[in-house]
Amino acid sequence: MDTQIIVLGAGVIGLTTALVLKQKGYKRVTIIAKYVPGDMCIEYTSPFAGAHWRTMAMNDNPLFQKLDAVSYRKFMGFAGNKQGNINEQVGIMTVTSYDYYDDNSTPEVTDPWFQNTVRDFKFLTEGLPQGVKTGHTYTTVLINSPVYLKWLRSQFEKLGGTIIKQSITHIDEVFHFIRNKEPYAALINCTGLGARFLGGVQDDKMSPTRGQTVVVYAPHIKKTITHVSAQCMTYVIPRSDGTVILGGTADKHDFNPYIDDATVQSILARTTALCPEIDSSLEIVRHATGLRPFREGGPRFENEIRRSKQHSFALYVTHAYGHGGFGVQSSWGSAEHTVELMEKGLSLTKSHL
Ligand SMILES: Cc1cc2nc3c(=O)[nH]c(=O)nc-3n(C[C@H](O)[C@H](O)[C@H](O)COP(=O)(O)OP(=O)(O)OC[C@H]3O[C@@H](n4cnc5c(N)ncnc54)[C@H](O)[C@@H]3O)c2cc1C
Repeated sequence: MDTQIIVLGAGVIGLTTALVLKQKGYKRVTIIAKYVPGDMCIEYTSPFAGAHWRTMAMNDNPLFQKLDAVSYRKFMGFAGNKQGNINEQVGIMTVTSYDYYDDNSTPEVTDPWFQNTVRDFKFLTEGLPQGVKTGHTYTTVLINSPVYLKWLRSQFEKLGGTIIKQSITHIDEVFHFIRNKEPYAALINCTGLGARFLGGVQDDKMSPTRGQTVVVYAPHIKKTITHVSAQCMTYVIPRSDGTVILGGTADKHDFNPYIDDATVQSILARTTALCPEIDSSLEIVRHATGLRPFREGGPRFENEIRRSKQHSFALYVTHAYGHGGFGVQSSWGSAEHTVELMEKGLSLTKSHL
């Protein structure tokens, strides 16, 4: 528990991982990040997440199922495990989710793995919008990302964690941040899309999946709806502060940070058709664009040892990045998995020292 641990990144993945480390009793945990809660920048995805829990884990992927299931239980706990609850401080709200599918040929739709994980699960067979073949309804959690990120930071700092706001260009720069040189220190790399550019990592499997949204003020919307069609995904995600995120797009390999007007019109047309309670006279609060940190083959959970000629100690690195469109809903499971992986690696390292 005395190991010095640096967490690189203060998105939902880095913050949750750092918090789990502190909750487990690790004494010296420091986050280094270019962007921290409160910042809004295209290089920082987490504040732009909708965000709702709507699993994307496949029926044949037990690891991803576990990451999402652990997180669902954690988020539900924050809301007192009750439907219709709001925890303003954490930025969590529980509502009914309606998920509609045009394609009813996949096992994830016909026999979803999570039907016994979520509360109040039912298949939807009646009253479906035109063209929709089937659907699911259940109780889900909605996360007001900017509020939630600040809450994560406050919990981490309350437990004695420290944050350094700084950008690094090469992973080995972290060696300079290790004080009281010991035989080894740990680094957890939670840089999201930044992993594509970070020297010593430069993961070319990483690319952005751009998501554009329209944020409206509509406190009367108390449900979340998602429609998955062959062409696109349309969603309505209310937040605990009365705003509602309308989306969306999933533009692969697209770094464009700007708002596209035609996309705004398409989002408004699709969401008002999906949810007639959203009408075009609603106040638009803002437009937003975020880049999901997509990784070909799924997130990277992997250990690596780095040594430096200048330093007499090793840096034990655990990579945890590339959560695409499911980083929030899998964050607690991901953090626990990452910490376990780091601990396995550290115990092996110690036995070889
Ligand atoms: C429109 C939209 C809707 C979404 N909806 C949902 C949803 O409903 N549910 C869901 O689960 N997910 C959703 N997501 C996906 C979710 O937002 C991401 O999976 C998640 O935010 C990724 O978090 P992260 O911590 O990995 O990355 P980030 O939030 O990008 O954080 C990366 C951190 O690393 C730091 N960093 C990177 N490189 C360096 C460097 N060289 N030096 C120092 N610091 C560095 C950054 O400054 C930042 O602090 C959505 C995303 C978008 C865009």
